[in-house]
Amino acid sequence: MAQRILTGIKPTGQLTLGNYIGVLRDLPKMMDKGECIFFIADLHALTLPIDPEVLRQNSIDLASFYLAAGLDPEKVTLFLQSSVSAHAELNAIMQNYLYMGELSRMTQFKDKSAKMKESAIGLGLFAYPVLMASDIILYDSDVVPVGEDQIQHIELTRDLVNRFNNRYGPVLKEPHYQVRKVGARIMSLSDPTTKMSKSDPKGDIYLKDDMKTVRKKIMSAVTDSGSEVKYDPENKPGISNLLTIYAVLSDISIEEAEKRFVGYRYGDFKKAVADVVVAELEPFQQKYQQIIDNKEYEKALQIGAKKAEAMARPVLNRVKKAVGLLDI
Ligand code: ATP
Ligand code: MG
Repeated sequence: MAQRILTGIKPTGQLTLGNYIGVLRDLPKMMDKGECIFFIADLHALTLPIDPEVLRQNSIDLASFYLAAGLDPEKVTLFLQSSVSAHAELNAIMQNYLYMGELSRMTQFKDKSAKMKESAIGLGLFAYPVLMASDIILYDSDVVPVGEDQIQHIELTRDLVNRFNNRYGPVLKEPHYQVRKVGARIMSLSDPTTKMSKSDPKGDIYLKDDMKTVRKKIMSAVTDSGSEVKYDPENKPGISNLLTIYAVLSDISIEEAEKRFVGYRYGDFKKAVADVVVAELEPFQQKYQQIIDNKEYEKALQIGAKKAEAMARPVLNRVKKAVGLLDI
């Protein structure tokens, strides 16, 4: 059987260049490497407060961005998580096999809840990794392409699979994460020591930004006081981040990128980075607009939901049987 490649993105906000470089840009290449299951993690988007109209709009945007990246809806399975009820059903079972202690050690939970009052932290935010593990397990996924920040959740999914299989026999497939060697963690332009995140508007480049804004953001990105364009994430996080963006979008290595900018001043270097970002985003935005105008996402999501449902149901039934739920 062809390997199954699964990944999801939350419609929590406008997609950033971090999401694009970390996962989205690579997805079309995976169409020939296995069976691709890509989804919009809309149930996950509810784990932090979000306006219903914003969620609806973000979901449409995200579906259109997936398609604009070059995915063929006939070849891949593209769908909304909430359209396939097996996700929630498996979540209800799997929540019994992950424990409070390990969930409270998850970096994403700690980061996202850090500034919140305890009385305002929803159970869904805490239990996020249970649903994410269910998303992965539900399709017998082999490979999960993600950014670096999600590795911890995949490791936890693997723990869950092993725990479950030890108890019930070989029921679940063990997934593996796949992260890019370069670009798995694009940093904020305003604070290059933190990750670029769509729910944190400072320091983001949004995939929907107009080109003037993109240039402006890159030209005013925080750098260090030195003058050499060198890759040194510890001492030069800002320059290293820009070099990473340049290298990935130019399909060259960091070393090669460094060589191109020997003797460059920061200002000229930033201009070159802005040029490659604009060259990438401009045609991408045109495709996105065409997909939005023609509502191409609707048909794609409808077909995707049917295909996903057909793949998920047998796995869910296998799990239900294993734990002793009657099928009458
Ligand atoms: P949020 O702030 O809502 O968590 P996010 O930008 O982190 O938004 P997610 O929907 O959580 O986006 O993640 C979607 C995918 O993008 C995941 O695979 C994640 O690892 C990847 N990703 C997120 N941020 C970055 C980044 N800065 N660099 C590379 N990959 C990233
Ligand atoms: Mg995130």
